[in-house]
Amino acid sequence: MSARLLVDLDAFARNLHVVRAAVAPATHMLVVKDDAYAHGLVPIVGRAWAEGVRWFGAFDIPTALLVRDALGSEARIFVWLLNGPDDLAAAVEADLDLGIGDRALLDELSSAVRPARVHLKIDTGLHRNGIRPEEWGSAVARAAELADDGRLRLEGVWSHIAEASDADDDAARALFDAARRDLDRAGLRAPLAHFAASAAAFARPEFRDDLVRVGAFAYGIAPAGGPDAAALGVEQIASLVAPVRATDGVHAVLGIGSQDGLPSSLAGLISVATPAGARRITRIDADRTLVEGWPTMSVGEEIRVLGAGGLHAMTDAAERIGTIGEELALRVSPLIERVYAGVRPLR
Ligand SMILES: *Cc1c(COP(=O)(O)O)cnc(C)c1O
Repeated sequence: MSARLLVDLDAFARNLHVVRAAVAPATHMLVVKDDAYAHGLVPIVGRAWAEGVRWFGAFDIPTALLVRDALGSEARIFVWLLNGPDDLAAAVEADLDLGIGDRALLDELSSAVRPARVHLKIDTGLHRNGIRPEEWGSAVARAAELADDGRLRLEGVWSHIAEASDADDDAARALFDAARRDLDRAGLRAPLAHFAASAAAFARPEFRDDLVRVGAFAYGIAPAGGPDAAALGVEQIASLVAPVRATDGVHAVLGIGSQDGLPSSLAGLISVATPAGARRITRIDADRTLVEGWPTMSVGEEIRVLGAGGLHAMTDAAERIGTIGEELALRVSPLIERVYAGVRPLR
């Protein structure tokens, strides 16, 4: 066996139920961008569907089309990276829910072949993507025209927040509420409001609205500097496992390294789970990792390097090198095989 990322879909299902209970009566939109945070898109959405998840946050069109293909026409699939008319046409064609955060993009909908499902995004301070408050009035007016023309069906109003400080999030919330009042005044009702991602969905009940867009916690990845997964009631679903490739009497050598996604700066800072117990990583090169040895070490023994069943959750290891759990999860090379437990047949 070579190195692999074990993904426990039963643990994932438990997390989904924890998220659902925590955010109820709001609905959980499972965020699956970046290949479901590198866990592998299709097995993840398949199991989520089997567990009753109906909303998926895909981010981009290629991801959304894969989800549509896997789950069929009833899945609601939200995309928010839309670069121009081709993306819009593809999104309308696939009956996606479009997160529109660009006033100019609305005009492109005037030639939509059927009503586009639109969620208008107000920029509440992140300045990543979102209609700026000063353009909001004009965007609302344009959306109302497009709705009258049968080119747009307003499904939602949304924003994204930093979740770094309560004060900033409260300021963002005030802008969001003002934007919703503008919609009401224009007689344009958005059936769904969504504002919170993982951290705020758990910590700020008043931010849950109708939908919450939760990725990280569903995969058991805790926030940096916040409560750990156990305190949140979720569990890490992935485990990076590597066999001992060689021994030199002093070290066990694992055949994965920084090119596979283990940052070399972790050397000296984390330990791995060996058959003999915890052993420190002493060095990480491009294609190998040295671990303190043990008397009976032998080639082929399985070592839990990171994540479930190991000594460090992704977030815990990430914090030691000044990054976040998602970042470490996403680094695991796509060339490392994903192996699943608990796959459910699709459709
Ligand atoms: C990534 C993302 C989320 C999910 O965030 P988590 O912290 O992983 O739950 C939600 N909304 C948007 C717009 C995102 O880009």
